[in-house]
Amino acid sequence: MPTVETVNGPIDVEKLGLTLIHEHFRTIDEAGRFQFPHLYDEQGEWDAAMHDANAVKGHGVKTVVEPSAMFLNRDAAFSKRVADESGLQVVLATGVYTYDHLPQFLLNRDEDAVAAIFVHEIEHGIQGTGIKPAFIKCAADEPGVTPNIEKIHRAAARASIQTGLPIMAHSRPASGTGPEQMRIFAEEGVDPAKVQVAHTGDTDDLDYIERLLDTGCWIGMDRYGLDLYLPTEQRNATVLALLERGYADRMFLSADACVTLDWYPREVDEQMLAAGLAKDWTMNIVHDKVLPALREGGATDEQIETMLVANPPRWLTG
Ligand SMILES: [Zn+2]
Repeated sequence: MPTVETVNGPIDVEKLGLTLIHEHFRTIDEAGRFQFPHLYDEQGEWDAAMHDANAVKGHGVKTVVEPSAMFLNRDAAFSKRVADESGLQVVLATGVYTYDHLPQFLLNRDEDAVAAIFVHEIEHGIQGTGIKPAFIKCAADEPGVTPNIEKIHRAAARASIQTGLPIMAHSRPASGTGPEQMRIFAEEGVDPAKVQVAHTGDTDDLDYIERLLDTGCWIGMDRYGLDLYLPTEQRNATVLALLERGYADRMFLSADACVTLDWYPREVDEQMLAAGLAKDWTMNIVHDKVLPALREGGATDEQIETMLVANPPRWLTG
């Protein structure tokens, strides 16, 4: 029986159960937190994380995959505490999350040196905890696949080849990054079935999505509630169209919820909420809003089970 690493060690892959493939218990800028701690409320962050962890547990979720990486304040000890207190299984990543900028620390190291950092974590654990990542994270966004982004993708690919771990690639359909990212992985010799192109659900362009699926990757329909990118109704219509075309075994449903997010000043957060740009954006949206609507639109229990239960072990074990 293949196993998957969690914050509490490896588990048999069949124990993953009902899985949200892309959620964050805390998303903050690690430099901001370290340098300007007066901006942060550790107890509030913890309470919010536990609130959502317990809520999804109440929906029957067994596992939350948390694709935080460098620059998203990945914190293995925090995630383990969430798992221990809630009873959820939590799966972590190694990797770097940037849209272009790299600090000197990464600018002056090449692909192989960065890959070696990822491989060290995969073999020895994250941040000295012994907790091992189960996959490798990288990102491309509005600037596209710049030289810095290409370097991180090639490093992720090389670490994947050396360890066999899958990759999750944050993408931006509006900039057409998905196929570009898959091209780099292919050049590095990564099996496309090991790659999940996250945020593909930010578009309802079925031609783009099918072109991406033709490369052999998985796709994340994983930003439910982020109506500023695509409203829930259009996300659902896209998922239903893809289900009709037979892609249940290639998709994931999730929200990319960030329980605490420090990217914007509080007043901007409030403006965005007031404008309805992220009104239902929580870890609960898949169960509270999306599944009922998909069922009403004709999705079968078997298709839903495939996306939430059967696909995560298949992607995570390559
Ligand atoms: Zn995310």
